[in-house]
Amino acid sequence: SLSSIEPTSNSSFIKKLKSTGRSLVVFYGSQTGTAEEFAGRIAKEGARYKMKGMVADPEECDMADLVEMKEIQKSMAIFCIATYGEGDPTDNAMDFYEWLQNGDADLEGLNYAVFGLGNKTYEHYNEIAIYIDQRLEELGATRVHEMGLGDDDANIEDDFVSWKEKLWESVCSHYGIEETGEESNIRQYKLVDCSEVLPERIFSGEISRLKSYENQRFPFDVKNPYLSKIAVNRELHKSGDRSCMHIEFDIDGSKMRYDTGDHVAVYPKNSSELVEKIGELLNADLDTVFSLLNTDEESSKKHPFPCPCTYRTALTYYLDITSNPRTHIMKELIEYASDPKDQEKLKLMASSSPEGKKEFHDWILHDNRNIVHILEDLPSVKPNLDHLCELLPRLQCRYYSISSSPKVHPKSIHITAVLVNYSTPTNRVNKGVATNLLAQLKPTNDELPQPTIPIYIRRSQFRLPPKSQTPIIMIGPGTGLAPFRGFIQERDYARKEGREIGEMVLYFGCRKKDEDFIYENELQEYVANGTLTKLHLAFSRDQPEKIYVTHLLEQNADELWNIIGEKNGHLYVCGDARSMAKDVHSIIVKVVMEKGQMTNSQALNYVKKMEQQKRYSADVWS
Ligand code: FAD
Repeated sequence: SLSSIEPTSNSSFIKKLKSTGRSLVVFYGSQTGTAEEFAGRIAKEGARYKMKGMVADPEECDMADLVEMKEIQKSMAIFCIATYGEGDPTDNAMDFYEWLQNGDADLEGLNYAVFGLGNKTYEHYNEIAIYIDQRLEELGATRVHEMGLGDDDANIEDDFVSWKEKLWESVCSHYGIEETGEESNIRQYKLVDCSEVLPERIFSGEISRLKSYENQRFPFDVKNPYLSKIAVNRELHKSGDRSCMHIEFDIDGSKMRYDTGDHVAVYPKNSSELVEKIGELLNADLDTVFSLLNTDEESSKKHPFPCPCTYRTALTYYLDITSNPRTHIMKELIEYASDPKDQEKLKLMASSSPEGKKEFHDWILHDNRNIVHILEDLPSVKPNLDHLCELLPRLQCRYYSISSSPKVHPKSIHITAVLVNYSTPTNRVNKGVATNLLAQLKPTNDELPQPTIPIYIRRSQFRLPPKSQTPIIMIGPGTGLAPFRGFIQERDYARKEGREIGEMVLYFGCRKKDEDFIYENELQEYVANGTLTKLHLAFSRDQPEKIYVTHLLEQNADELWNIIGEKNGHLYVCGDARSMAKDVHSIIVKVVMEKGQMTNSQALNYVKKMEQQKRYSADVWS
């Protein structure tokens, strides 16, 4: 019957563990795929310790089943958990997090360990992992190994590898087991020949639905992006050799709506130069149609990316070929090196010895090599292309703070993006994937098909105050100006409609007035017409001593306190330098102390309360 082939319940990971003779489950809370990748590596290594493992997405599981883990002998649950934004769980871990917070399950008999993925430059460093680790213990579970914390601002791969090594030591002593020494180089996916597949069944860059770009369907989201035309693409810098683009995506007719302060996600593609290079280096025919099929038939994830497709499509749209590969890729490449020297080097970088870690740090991270550079510089390494496609992480979309207001521009989304290009210690030029693609997408006046790019809108918490009369301070040097351009447009519109608007104070900074003072004319107009009450400018290189927005803030303590302390206003920080946001935070605490006559801890509490009331918001990236 039909029902017998449909999974009765794909949510019971316990059933699956039991029916497949496994004792290890590794859950991940992942937004960009790193936590998921780490989970996969742990699950795979379990075989070495007679612990057959599997990875699981908490969103697809009934996590209340954790109480039944004790029924499986020598079992263990490991959690690789990322913390996002202002201390938030990832989308797929949200329900699990709430279940832990609100429930009181008895988790006695559950053995566990937690690894957190976070970023130290954010205030809420690894907060979710720390909570989960504590909460599991409170609910009676047994911590087999102490929590590890990975810092993405430093070397998270190193943090992970070091933790994982100690984890297995703890596991061995806890369960009284010994390492079998069995290296499990078992592949997760098997190659399926697809040369006979009909062309209309072959993916060509779609994110999930075949032909979704030819046949667009509302609503648009992360799995179903809108193929937007580029209406405007112009340079904002007046001189100098750097570039900042003002781009307008045309969303007319898409039924997409956005709010001031939202982000727009852009799906990029890799440069054909790099893609073709991989084909050449590996002597592969990139037109070959293939599919990778999960060897675990019960996994809900059948393919690592949309399959079948050609190798060219996989390398162009689905795989990240430009970031620094992690150590497990070095390990998997060893078997493909025919030159013993190359083999030794890969072995060293894959090992967790101090020399190995140093080599990985120096040769991969410091010298900034991507997979193409590695294949160029270790010429005897010739992996099967399908295996390489299994190993490389997924290409991620890039986010941009929307720099327009839907009140003024309901049919377009504006962004303000800096072109990323830099040279590496091996004298190569690395080009930012998304920004270099955007730079090429120029609308034309003739009849030619206009350039397009897949986008979707991601809601944010970065919002103007509910009342237009509330005064605000905006601190946005460089591209940090982006969301504030939207804020100013929105209030300018309200004012022109006859509504009363509150004070708007903007802090902007850049290198030189005549070089990278973006949107200068617009800003001056808003000052002239009264929408912008104050425009504080810091040009760091226009005089002998460096002046930054933080210096101006320090000088304007009275004005700051007047707005946030006396008028109950809001303060916003945005920018691409997280250190700037931290500096601003400590300046504000100092201002609150001095002008509000508070002790340091009172001032810290005051600012914390501002954050909770959404009167202090940050929109920062690295
Ligand atoms: P990638 O191919 O991703 O390369 C960038 C990476 O290269 C960096 O992460 C870094 O690892 C490395 N790198 C860059 N420069 C150097 C260097 N000099 N030396 C060594 N390594 C280097 N960007 C904007 O321009 N405007 C915005 O409004 C904006 N808003 C954002 C909002 C959010 C919420 C987030 C998360 C990010 C935002 N960004 C914004 C950043 C944006 O998403 C991209 O990261 C950026 O445009 C680079 O993308 P890319 O694909 O061109 O570069």
